[in-house]
Amino acid sequence: MRRKLIAGNWKMNGSLAGNATLLDGIRAGAANLNADLAVCVPAPYLAQVQAVLAGSAIGWGAQDVSVHESGAYTGEVSVAMLKDFGSRYAIVGHSERRSYHGESDELVAQKAARALAAGLVPIVCVGETLEEREQGQTDAVVTRQLKPVLDAVGAQLSGIVVAYEPVWAIGTGKTATPAMAQKVHELIRASLAQRDASAAAGVKILYGGSMKPDNAKELLVMADIDGGLIGGAALKAADFLAIAQAA
Ligand code: PEP
Repeated sequence: MRRKLIAGNWKMNGSLAGNATLLDGIRAGAANLNADLAVCVPAPYLAQVQAVLAGSAIGWGAQDVSVHESGAYTGEVSVAMLKDFGSRYAIVGHSERRSYHGESDELVAQKAARALAAGLVPIVCVGETLEEREQGQTDAVVTRQLKPVLDAVGAQLSGIVVAYEPVWAIGTGKTATPAMAQKVHELIRASLAQRDASAAAGVKILYGGSMKPDNAKELLVMADIDGGLIGGAALKAADFLAIAQAA
């Protein structure tokens, strides 16, 4: 049985004062949950998050990571730096990185492998645009995005988390129906199983895209939906915890 993971993606939101309230609220409500919790925060706040969450069961991490180890890469943040602040996770391949920063499937795969090699858990995002869905390309797009990741992580498949995030559902208030999401999650698990069936059975596949307290339960009961990657609703402790309670 895969334990659910509810991971917040704060995106480029936060302030020292606002984070303190949010983190205190999450920490206070995190006892006795039937799910793992994590927050993926802007890199400058990792030290604050580490200070508040250290000693709790809540994990934390970043929203991206450099593919490079160190050196002349202005503006980049390395896996070692994330580790210095106790990070457990790094989101890679979020659709906002793919579309606004031109990240290719191959680059995302290399970032996932770099994170894994450093002992971080990459949360690898995949998902189709509205146009791609309407053209019946969802399965092909997700399979294309996953392939280089599976090639790059090889025998370490069990160390990744996959997040299916239909681009048209992110931040839009539109959610995939549970059946639509389950169908893609099933496809993702089948792709993983082609590489390593026993690892695939244990890999968490999260759903992301306007998951909220009022739709979380119907999504989280689906057989292959092992948690959520939560954007907007991760910015309020009560909403984030309500989603975790639904898990
Ligand atoms: C996300 O950014 O990963 C996300 C799922 O955002 P939202 O929940 O706001 O749609």
